Amino acid sequence: MTALRELYQQLIIDHGRNPRHFGELAAADYVKEGYNPLCGDKVKVYLQVNHNVIQQATFKGAGCAISIASASLMSEALIGKTLDEAKILFQQFHNLMTKAHSEKEDSNNANSDLGKLVVLSGVSEFPMRVKCATLAWHTFISAIHHDQKPVSTE
Ligand code: ZN
Repeated sequence: MTALRELYQQLIIDHGRNPRHFGELAAADYVKEGYNPLCGDKVKVYLQVNHNVIQQATFKGAGCAISIASASLMSEALIGKTLDEAKILFQQFHNLMTKAHSEKEDSNNANSDLGKLVVLSGVSEFPMRVKCATLAWHTFISAIHHDQKPVSTE
């Protein structure tokens, strides 16, 4: 478990320092900005969607390593998913970040599509950091629902 945890931490650090899919997307169909006032994380999510399939997902932002790593991992996970699949993935990720540990073991073994996103599971032990990890996801969900309200974790 310790080795696994170290591997998870390395992946978060890697994605925090060298985020994938970072930058504006000129052809974006959905653009949304989110803010986590607790930590000061800001993220802007860009999505290109064709026939209900996410063709491209990028983000821009500034914040702590966890918020950037989570947005990077989210972008990787979203590309190629239908909007419905992406909404299910959001639910699974949200559960992973908010559930107690015993329940989490079960959900990890279930047929979840979380893949690499499980590297963020350790963050659920730190309630302050959970908002850093879920910011990009809340911003994404708000974007595809054409929600006019600004996204804030508070
Ligand atoms: Zn943060």
